[in-house]
Amino acid sequence: MHRRLIIQKFGGSSVANVERIQNVAKRITSYKKKNCDLVVVVSALGDTTDELIELSQKITTDPSERELDMLLATGEQISVALLAMAIHKLGFEAISFTGAQGGIITDTSHTRARIIQINAQKIKEELQKGRIVIVAGFQGITSNHDITTLGRGGSDLTAVALAKELGADECEIYTDVKGVYTTDPRIEPKAKKLNAITYDEMLEMASLGAQVMQARSIEVAKKFNVPIHVRSSFSPQSGTMIIKEAKRMEDVLISGITINKHETKITICDVPDKPGVAAKIFKKLSDSGISVDMIVQNVSHTRKTDISFTVNKSTSGKAMKVLTQVARKLRTGEVLEDLDIARISIVGVGMKSHPGVAAKMFEILANNKINIKMISTSDISISCIIEKRFTETAVTQLHKSFGLSR
Ligand code: ASP
Ligand code: MG
Repeated sequence: MHRRLIIQKFGGSSVANVERIQNVAKRITSYKKKNCDLVVVVSALGDTTDELIELSQKITTDPSERELDMLLATGEQISVALLAMAIHKLGFEAISFTGAQGGIITDTSHTRARIIQINAQKIKEELQKGRIVIVAGFQGITSNHDITTLGRGGSDLTAVALAKELGADECEIYTDVKGVYTTDPRIEPKAKKLNAITYDEMLEMASLGAQVMQARSIEVAKKFNVPIHVRSSFSPQSGTMIIKEAKRMEDVLISGITINKHETKITICDVPDKPGVAAKIFKKLSDSGISVDMIVQNVSHTRKTDISFTVNKSTSGKAMKVLTQVARKLRTGEVLEDLDIARISIVGVGMKSHPGVAAKMFEILANNKINIKMISTSDISISCIIEKRFTETAVTQLHKSFGLSR
């Protein structure tokens, strides 16, 4: 008879202290009582990873990436061991593994390594013995035996990759919220938990600012069609399924609204309208390690034009410095910085088959006297940059008018 294999991943907040670890142990063993095979992936306790990074910064602001991985990987090693002990205490058999022991082989890009292969033999043997296998998330090992980490939030990736490798029946991602919401419940109290969302929508929402799961883990889940269940570790209720697009999902116009207040709008005025100028500007920015988004260039009637784009707030000071130099060289006008902006995006696969969604969004904003400063679109999303102080109004009105509050 086929025994169900379930992968369960618990995030840092779900194992932040002893009581929560014991709580997680109880949940895990309740599945074991139902006769399932279980592979559990855990993140470091609470904010451990941030604390370890801070600690390293006290020694050097430019640590070797190999040594940083060595340091950060200790966080998850603490949680797997403690969780195994908590499960033992409840009278069940469990064994903890580091990423290396779990056979997670990665490339050599320290701090953002990619999983190349999983040698799951050892995990399978332990499952055979009836044990609960606990694997440290976020880490692996190179073929040369160096410890690597998979990028922030990388435990999600560990869980999804193991689910694929082991052919799991379910992949549950436990977190401190009940699932994926139509929008940020702290901004819109009428936000609703979604029962299901497609991989593409989730990816789009992650890249636009929703912090539910690591984006890369969703890409991998999509590639191998691993269904994911995002749910709360504090509640027995089911959460949100992240799945392949189903026909009926297109009937819903919009699935979610994201809010991003971490961007700055920069405008370079009176840029000479001739070939090569934009290339020069953006080359300088990329050489300085600054990524830009939402680029808009106006049509010029005077052989000069304004170019606007957004950058992450953390890089905007640096961008301004670089651009002031470039502006002088290229004889453009002023460089303006606008810090008080927010990006409001609507996301939904339904957009592909329903025209008029953009018009509806603009109309809702206009009816509320909210000026749109920039617009950008993708296949399944529309983003508007607006003044930050209108964020709440915009979200509430869009949420209502697109029927998400129902
Ligand atoms: N502990 C790591 C981090 O905070 C990995 C994870 O939480 O998934 O990024
Ligand atoms: Mg964490």
